[in-house]
Amino acid sequence: PPPRALTRHDPGTIAAWDADHVIHPWESMGEEVTDRVVAAKAEGIHLYNAEGRRFIDGPGGMWCMQIGYGRREMADAIAEQAMKLAYHSPWAFASEPSALLARKLAQMTPGDLNSVFFTTGGSSAVDTALRFAQFYNNLRGRPEKKLFLARERGYHGSTYLAASVTGKDRWKNPMDVERRLVRFLPDINPYHRAPGQSEADWCDEKVEDLARAIRVEGADTIAAFIAEPILASGGVIVPPEGYLRRCAELCRAHDILFIADEVVTGFGRLGHWFASEAVFGVVPDIITCAKGLTSGYVPLGAAIISDRLIAEISGEDRAEVLFKNGYTYSGHPVCCAAALTSIEIIEREGLLEHVRRVAPHFQARLRDLARHEIVGDVRGMGLLGCVEGTARPDLPEERRFAIDQHFGELVDAACEARGLIVRPLLNMCVFSPPLIISEGEIDEMFDILDAAIGEVQGEML
Ligand code: PLP
Repeated sequence: PPPRALTRHDPGTIAAWDADHVIHPWESMGEEVTDRVVAAKAEGIHLYNAEGRRFIDGPGGMWCMQIGYGRREMADAIAEQAMKLAYHSPWAFASEPSALLARKLAQMTPGDLNSVFFTTGGSSAVDTALRFAQFYNNLRGRPEKKLFLARERGYHGSTYLAASVTGKDRWKNPMDVERRLVRFLPDINPYHRAPGQSEADWCDEKVEDLARAIRVEGADTIAAFIAEPILASGGVIVPPEGYLRRCAELCRAHDILFIADEVVTGFGRLGHWFASEAVFGVVPDIITCAKGLTSGYVPLGAAIISDRLIAEISGEDRAEVLFKNGYTYSGHPVCCAAALTSIEIIEREGLLEHVRRVAPHFQARLRDLARHEIVGDVRGMGLLGCVEGTARPDLPEERRFAIDQHFGELVDAACEARGLIVRPLLNMCVFSPPLIISEGEIDEMFDILDAAIGEVQGEML
C-alpha cells in the first residue's frame, strides 16, 4: 500500500507556508525555495518525509543525532522533568539536573576542566569561551591580550563573536563581523599541500603558520587560539599527525589559551566522550560542546573551563567582579535532564566502543569511493566522512564549474532518489550518521553513495 501522509496538512501547503514565513539558516536571498523536503518523522537512523518516504539520515541531523531518533526514554525524561520543574532561574537557584550534568562533564573531560558554563547551543558556548578568555586577561592585568587566532575554513557559529572567528567563506560574506579582533591562519587541509610534499612537512608548515602569527601580532596581544580538532563544516578536515599537540604546546609557551571547539567531535563521534586528549593528545584550557550533548533532542551547549584559569582570577578580594555572561536558559533543567539521559544511553549501550568497532569499516568503505575518477579526495575519522569532487582539467569550462559548485548537490540528489540524505557543501558532501548505525547499515549507506557518485560521474565526465 502507498505510505500514509505523516502530516495533518498537505505537504505542499506546509512547504508553501514555510517559504512564505520561515527564514532558514543560510537562507538564499535569490529565488524562494518552495519545494523544501518536509521532514515529518524519524526513527533510529531514518528520517521520513511527509509523504512517508524513508531515508537514512547521513548527516545525523546536523552532526548531532548520536543515539538515534524516537527514543521513548528521552521523551519520558524530558516530559518528567517538564512536569517536575520545567524551569528555574540559573541566577538564583541550583538544581539537580544541571549539578549532576556538570559533575558528569567534569569527569568526562581531560585534565582539570571541571567548571561548566551551560549555554543554549554551540555558538553561545563559543561566545562564552571567547568572552571568558578576554575577561581572564583583564583580571590578570593584561587587558591588551584581546586577539583571537582562528583558522580558514573553521566554523564556530552564528552569534556575532562566534561568526567573527569563523573562517568559512569569509571573503564572500556580506554580513558584518568584528574583523579587528581576529587573525586567521591559512588552510590546514593536507589535501591542499603541494604535490610531493610529505604530511610531516605540511604539518611543520602549518605549525609555523601559528608561530608566525604569534610573532607578527605579539603574544602579549593574543588571548586565545580556537580550533575544531577536526574542521567539520569546513569539509571534515583532519589535521596532519601531531599538528594539534604542537599548536597547543606553542600556545602554552606563549600564554595563549587553547580553546578546543568540540561541538562536533564530542560525545562519541570519534569513539570517545571528547577527542582532544583521547585522539589528539591535547588537554585544552577550554572545551566547547553542544549538539551530541543532548543528541539533538533539545538545545544545550557548554563551555568547560580549566580550574587553573578560574583559580587564577578568583579570590576573596574579587567579590565585586562578576562574569557578566548569562542566558535565561543556562542550565535549563529539561535540557540537562535530556543530556543526562542521552549520556546514560551512550554508556549503557556501549556506543563509544561501538563507534570504535565500526569506524574502521566506515572509513574503509569511504576510502573505496576514491576509485571514482570524479572523486578528488575522501577523508574522515570515526563516524565523520567527506567526499570531495574534482574536475579533470581537460573538461569544458562549464562542466568544471558545475563540478566545483554543485558536485555535492548532484550527489545528494542522486542519493536522495535511492533513500539516503547527505549534506552537500559545494564540491563536497559530508556525513556523520547516528552513532547507533550498524555495520550492515554502513554498507547500505556506502552502496547508495557509490551508485550515486557513479551516476553523477556518468553525467558529468
Ligand atoms: N562549533 C562548531 C564546530 C559547529 O560545527 C557548530 C555548528 O555547526 C557550532 C559551533 C555552532 O553551534 P550552534 O549551531 O549550536 O550554535
